[in-house]
Amino acid sequence: MSLQGSPVKVYIRIRPTANFAHELIECLPDQQTLRVRWSRRDSKKGKRNNHLSSWLFQLNGVLHNVSQEDVYDHVARSVVLGVFGGYNGTIMCFGQTGAGKTYTMTGAAETYKQRGIIPRALQEVFQEVEHRVDHTFSVHLSFLEIYNETMVDLLSSIKQGKGSHSGILTVVEEPGGGVSVKGLSLHLVHNEEEALNLLFEGEMNRIIGEHALNKHSSRSHCIFTIHIESRSRTLSDAKYITSKLNLVDLAGSERLSKTGSEGQVQTEAMYINKSLSFLEQVILALADSRREHVPFRQSKLTHALKDSLGGNCNTVLVANIYGEGAQIEETLSTLRFATRMKCV
Ligand code: ADP
Ligand code: MG
Repeated sequence: MSLQGSPVKVYIRIRPTANFAHELIECLPDQQTLRVRWSRRDSKKGKRNNHLSSWLFQLNGVLHNVSQEDVYDHVARSVVLGVFGGYNGTIMCFGQTGAGKTYTMTGAAETYKQRGIIPRALQEVFQEVEHRVDHTFSVHLSFLEIYNETMVDLLSSIKQGKGSHSGILTVVEEPGGGVSVKGLSLHLVHNEEEALNLLFEGEMNRIIGEHALNKHSSRSHCIFTIHIESRSRTLSDAKYITSKLNLVDLAGSERLSKTGSEGQVQTEAMYINKSLSFLEQVILALADSRREHVPFRQSKLTHALKDSLGGNCNTVLVANIYGEGAQIEETLSTLRFATRMKCV
């Protein structure tokens, strides 16, 4: 069930727009390559120079004008089913604020058709649980937010959670190479509806926290984790197998303009830049078979995902971009990050 080839599958999703910059962004017919043409502004003279640069970005797939259902089928389904084969999985959305990360991961509430990867994954998980009659399953959920290297339990207000306490959350290493977040509540769910209620609850708590702390959700990483424990009904001495699926909505990757930002905004940006660069370092180290040390512990994000990246795990990155010319610099920066993650 493990995905073959590069340790990380990388997809680009372009947010639909009536002003798609055809002259700048071209999707090649192989549906895996983007060509970007652009003339950089001359920083001294403040105007465009005449030199038009052209870049080719090759990925595992370019999703342009693709429905939520097709995104799920293309990008997520094999990772979700892999969890039933005992493979941990991680699907992450990356990109500047507004490019469609949350739409891709959670979706829009307005219509059923616009459900994102998380609700569809939950539906699939419970379908599998029902079909696999030779196993017993238990499904738990957790929802973690990382803001300025502080971890917050988005489901701590819900009573029944096991493992929850009011102290500081910390990542702990377990014997056998796994990790868990000490203090993070895990919630047993029996069906899709209960699971969706928790997702909704966690999102509400994220919004409440935003108002209380005067922060923006785009400044934090969110990890929604489906923990699946299974045991064979037919083998009398069967052990419990546990696997995890992490669905990650990363903080906005946009760079600050060099002037004008200060205080809280600057601190947030510093933490985001650092953790995204540590994520990249970890992915690169995992892909390099000569590297023995993988620097997971440099950030909360990579440490919390330690047992779900690389190795025997399925990892997918969706890089979300705008199709508009006005955003081309951030788009180029997102595409560069995406290709670095893939071309290792
Ligand atoms: P981000 O989480 O990256 O900041 P959002 O997912 O919140 O961005 O998207 C910004 C806005 O664009 C939202 O209103 C969202 O519903 C809309 N949007 C993003 N991607 C799509 C898409 N593929 N199709 C339709 N609407 C989209
Ligand atoms: Mg968002």
